[in-house]
Amino acid sequence: MHITLVAGARPNFIKISPIINAIKKKQSEDVDIQYSLVHTGQHYDRLMSGLFFEELGIPEPDVNLGAGSGTQAEQTASIMVAFEKYLVAHPTDLVIAVGDVTSTMACAIVTKKLGIKLAHVEAGIRSFDMSMPEEINRMVTDSITDYFFITSDYAKQNLKDAGVPDERIFFVGNVMIDSLLSNQDKLKRPAVFDSLQLNEKKYIVLTLHRPNNVDDAGNLVDILQTIDSNVNGTAVLFPIHPRTEQKLKGLNLQFKNIKTIQPLGYLEFIYCVKHSLAVITDSGGITEETTILHVPCMTLRDNTERPETCSIGTNELIGTNPQNIVPALKRLFSGEWKTGGIPELWDGHTSERIIDILLKNQ
Ligand code: UDP
Repeated sequence: MHITLVAGARPNFIKISPIINAIKKKQSEDVDIQYSLVHTGQHYDRLMSGLFFEELGIPEPDVNLGAGSGTQAEQTASIMVAFEKYLVAHPTDLVIAVGDVTSTMACAIVTKKLGIKLAHVEAGIRSFDMSMPEEINRMVTDSITDYFFITSDYAKQNLKDAGVPDERIFFVGNVMIDSLLSNQDKLKRPAVFDSLQLNEKKYIVLTLHRPNNVDDAGNLVDILQTIDSNVNGTAVLFPIHPRTEQKLKGLNLQFKNIKTIQPLGYLEFIYCVKHSLAVITDSGGITEETTILHVPCMTLRDNTERPETCSIGTNELIGTNPQNIVPALKRLFSGEWKTGGIPELWDGHTSERIIDILLKNQ
């Protein structure tokens, strides 16, 4: 069996790494399984891409499609044109697409139109917020997927509601958590931890990159100033996403507590999250990581496609109104945040289950 794996953006790299390891494990047991890795080039700078390949030991991609940045349509189109050429020249039995980025959707469409089987890892999750490009990516991908690998019962219900037959839905757990658990003993304390004199459980980690929060510079500044003024002197480590950095360029903002740094590599970032007092974020993947690490998490969104991080884990939806951050921080500082539990099958063996199922059902 030959599998083509596609990845294009930071969260994708974290998701494909354990899948590749599971394939290699099968190869070492003499199972007939090969793979190729396609990097679409959606994220291309070292801090958002190359560093993840190095830290997670992901092999060099067989090809980089060089999609680069652009509007949603420009990126989708250039990935589709290049991926179609690649797939025609490099036949495969199955394509695995992970997550919900533009590359996921673009490659899914090309795969299906060439009559090749498609597996979607992290299928079925829905925010029902059509202002999120990711929601559209999820819906389009899931409308043409053959194998749906899901992280939760919630995803199963969404797929059943969309008419997907039971036998194509596979509840396998969460590949992000495979990465997190298998890298626990490789985590790295970043240099900024010491240069900023951070102390364990005495600082907050902040990430922001959703268009709703960052595209309007006034709103972004409001969020940052509200956090800065309500953390009681607690340091806030802010590894800044390139999209967010772009918005703040030239504003020359000064903060008392927020320490803006470049995006961190995976091993450094998880180290910082693990030892933090709490995380404030609008990321999806990070709410899963804080759940596993039992770190309080405030999500600056009105909805989530990962409700189990709230109902079982440590996550809480704070909303997009910056004023909501104030009472949430008060609750955090009074020690009232939930410690949470671990969702079913988030156990570090999801990728092995995926490969076993694909081999059995080929
Ligand atoms: N991440 C990282 N360095 C950072 C910020 C995030 O390694 O400075 C990792 C984080 O651990 C998570 C992933 O990137 O695994 C989440 O990416 P992002 O927030 O860009 O995407 P989303 O989860 O919102 O799709």
